[in-house]
Amino acid sequence: MLDILFLGAQGSGKGTQADILASRLGIPHVASGDLLRTAIEQDTPAGKQARVYYDRGELVPDTIMVAMFLERLAQADSARGAILDGFPRTLAQAEALDQALSSVGREVDHVMYLKADPNVLVKRLANRYICRAHQHPYNLITNPPKRPGICDIDGSELYQRSDDTEEAVRRRLEIFFQETLKLLDYYGKKGKVREIDAEQPIPEVTESILRALGI
Ligand code: AMP
Repeated sequence: MLDILFLGAQGSGKGTQADILASRLGIPHVASGDLLRTAIEQDTPAGKQARVYYDRGELVPDTIMVAMFLERLAQADSARGAILDGFPRTLAQAEALDQALSSVGREVDHVMYLKADPNVLVKRLANRYICRAHQHPYNLITNPPKRPGICDIDGSELYQRSDDTEEAVRRRLEIFFQETLKLLDYYGKKGKVREIDAEQPIPEVTESILRALGI
């Protein structure tokens, strides 16, 4: 069983790296943002509640998020572990996660902190597109699709997220550096954090992660 948490600001490349590592290890990549976008698109009760926070770039309340994420982690495909992306984002969520994992004999084994300068992040986000079918991430400059506007992996259309507007991006980065970075402390005290230079090109970041994991 291997549970690996990716911690990094929006635009740090954590979704891209989480996808790569998940397929390499044969465990699912569970991303809170993807779960939310699906719930919002399907207009579920949780999606309805979450939408206004999501569009503003604010954190969705812990109660909604914890229930949604833990329900996903309890599914059969995560039984051997998972790559956790975007959750936990607050201390309350980290504590709820620890409790849920320990009740089934699991824990967060490693925390990969993908570190990048905020100026790099803003530039990357302005060029970010994801695909309709599976939210595979692209960057028009550093990681473009082979055919413009089309996902290489599943052929679906690429689009820009509704919260990748300049104002929402600024708000999300602010929250990350104020709130989510507290998690570095929390997991750092448990000796689980490895810092990765996320300003490198994609293959080098992957290599750094594999090296940090001893794979
Ligand atoms: P992401 O795709 O990880 O950038 O998340 C997009 C948006 O979803 C965030 O700006 C929040 O509004 C919401 N969100 C995702 N994960 C969480 C979380 N763990 N706690 C609260 N809000 C979240």
